[in-house]
Amino acid sequence: MKALVIGGGIIGLSSAYYLQQSGWDVTIIDKTDLSDNCSYGNLGMIVPSHFVPLAAPGMVAKGIKWMFNSRSPFYVKPSLNPDLISWGLKFVKSATQQHVDRSAVPLRDINLLSKTLYEELAAKPGFDFAMEKKGIMMYFKTEKVAEEEIHLAEKAKSMGLDVVALSKGEAQSLESEVELDILGAVHYRCDAHLYPNKLMPQLIAYLKTAGVKFQTNSAVEKIIAEGATIKKVVTKHGVYEGDVVVIAGGSWLSQLTKMADVFIPLMPGKGYSFTLQQPEKKLNIPAILCEARVAITPMNGYMRYGGTMEIAPVNNKINMKRVEGIVQSVPKYFPGIQLQMPEEKNIWYGFRPCTPDGLPYLGYSKKIKNLIIAGGHAMSGLSLGPASGKLVAELANHQPTSVNMDVFDPERFS
Ligand SMILES: Cc1cc2nc3c(=O)[nH]c(=O)nc-3n(C[C@H](O)[C@H](O)[C@H](O)COP(=O)(O)OP(=O)(O)OC[C@H]3O[C@@H](n4cnc5c(N)ncnc54)[C@H](O)[C@@H]3O)c2cc1C
Repeated sequence: MKALVIGGGIIGLSSAYYLQQSGWDVTIIDKTDLSDNCSYGNLGMIVPSHFVPLAAPGMVAKGIKWMFNSRSPFYVKPSLNPDLISWGLKFVKSATQQHVDRSAVPLRDINLLSKTLYEELAAKPGFDFAMEKKGIMMYFKTEKVAEEEIHLAEKAKSMGLDVVALSKGEAQSLESEVELDILGAVHYRCDAHLYPNKLMPQLIAYLKTAGVKFQTNSAVEKIIAEGATIKKVVTKHGVYEGDVVVIAGGSWLSQLTKMADVFIPLMPGKGYSFTLQQPEKKLNIPAILCEARVAITPMNGYMRYGGTMEIAPVNNKINMKRVEGIVQSVPKYFPGIQLQMPEEKNIWYGFRPCTPDGLPYLGYSKKIKNLIIAGGHAMSGLSLGPASGKLVAELANHQPTSVNMDVFDPERFS
């Protein structure tokens, strides 16, 4: 049986991995040479802690407030783009407590599954992607955020996650090299991290050795369906056929599904990172600076800083003001870390594939019976890679799925 996987980010590669393992003849098609995509320069966090989707009460108000600050961490570019307007309306409608409550268990379960699968992968020969299980720290400076974070930690604990609230002194005792200027912290000991720039090439090398075929520098231009079945996938370099077609095109997901007449709402959420290979000071545990919405991960001996979320169509401009926002927020939490603005050539950016309700799209299309859609993982795609891949393979093999996937239905907005 043949499977075509469109997109070679972490979701496409993981899908190929589990499909190949269960006996499929797999071809991955990607428009790039696969040396970079959103799955490389991210912060590498594996996050069972992220059980609250982006579409949550309060986010709409925060988004509107932050829109007027060029250094802010969340930004929706005002535009008359109909896709953006429609996405925004759906986001507002989804941002309810009921939605948050309904999403928590499925998000926890898929993240925990993924963490276990990363542990299995890390133990395989040929894989060494600097995975560490130290958790992540949520640092806060204000009473208001302390209250929110401690409330969330209690909820996490009630869901069985390993999490603990720490005083400033307790947090400091876990970070010997770096002085903390915080009110307190929450330590999600259930989380982990890895170095994506090692993981991705190792996965590609493994898949090639295992016989997965790669058609790179080949943008999919057309998808030809007859009735309810995809018959052909067309690129400039060839025409491909598969018993199952997996669309895992990241921020280009909706453009690709549209070629098969399947309409799903999705917007890119651009974020930036930069990596210091010889940092003066290193954190011990990855950190999220809650008020600033900046993330910092010590990975592979380096320090990676990142953040910001600009919801706007794909564009290749680097907005230095947003990078400045990241740089300036760091010493507010770590007075001993005074960062220089990175040179533009050392700034990485990627496009998080954002659904309007903050939940991924994972499942068969109802309209096209051999199409599986896998994407829209927003801020958690690295974390959810292996679980998404395993679920894709389970669907393709018509097996019961490892977690309940009802909330991830890719055509839930149709
Ligand atoms: C600053 C930042 C920090 C982040 N930190 C984290 C983190 O700590 N933890 C976490 O879990 N997630 C994090 N993320 C999110 C994570 O990186 C993404 O969710 C994830 O990489 C998305 O993976 P993907 O495979 O869906 O998409 P991508 O990695 O973007 O891959 C999609 C692929 O599809 C290909 N494609 C598109 N169109 C076509 C076409 N027409 N034909 C052929 N190929 C096509 C593209 O070339 C690309 O290679 C972060 C993101 C950013 C920006």
